[in-house]
Amino acid sequence: MIDDAGLAETELRLAAFIAVFAALGLLELIIPKRRLVARKARRWATNLAIVALDSLLVRLMANLAVPIAAVAAAVYATSAGIGLFNWLSWPDLLVTVLAILVLDFAVWAQHWLSHKIPLLWRLHQVHHADLDIDVTTAIRFHPIEIGLSMLWKIVWVLALGLPVHAVLLFEIILNGGAMFNHANIDLPRWLDGLLRSVIVTPDMHRVHHSVLRREHDSNYGFNLSIWDRLFGTYTAQPEQGHQGMTIGLESYQTQEPTKLVWSLLLPAKPFPKDP
Ligand SMILES: [Zn+2]
Repeated sequence: MIDDAGLAETELRLAAFIAVFAALGLLELIIPKRRLVARKARRWATNLAIVALDSLLVRLMANLAVPIAAVAAAVYATSAGIGLFNWLSWPDLLVTVLAILVLDFAVWAQHWLSHKIPLLWRLHQVHHADLDIDVTTAIRFHPIEIGLSMLWKIVWVLALGLPVHAVLLFEIILNGGAMFNHANIDLPRWLDGLLRSVIVTPDMHRVHHSVLRREHDSNYGFNLSIWDRLFGTYTAQPEQGHQGMTIGLESYQTQEPTKLVWSLLLPAKPFPKDP
């Protein structure tokens, strides 16, 4: 059963990823928001190489260990009857909605912790070092950070006994949502305003990629915008405007972040004075 679910998950996620990636990549050409500062081919090659390494790592973990992916954990929780929702007999729709809300909060909390705990920030810096923000920034996460995120999600899935279809749906939403809110697209102001009352828009998440610490220490959400409003970490617009703001990390405004090996080794570098 785990093999079947694993295969279906891989295919579904890959199909959703390719469709969303292609659509947003195209939109970035049609309605770009900012002029990119770094060489796009170089950045894209590095960011795509990072996601290829990440997928390889996840596959390796799945082959080596017990069910490691979040969806596989949900299959296990259901068959073993463990976790809160497996003990309660609540309606399926309610459980699905709650599962997605809880997982979205868990991802928000993990992101907040990644900015507060120095060891986690070392890994998360790789994502923030990107000199531009576009659809490929969404997949630029250090392999160790990807592994930790997965373990974090598995803890929530097992503790709450989240259903398989809800976890799979969440993974697809999270992946698509991240690509959408990192996209370098210029949405009409009214549409951005309408969308961001519920979900994180590209303009909202771009603030999080500012070199200014008070800006990158805000807007941690990936899907729903409610968590940042609720916990007082919401910043509406960048101080220097979307065109004037600088993207990335203050200490690394060189071409280094476009290089693969440099990016993978960044967590091991000593901290600059102001991360
Ligand atoms: Zn961040």
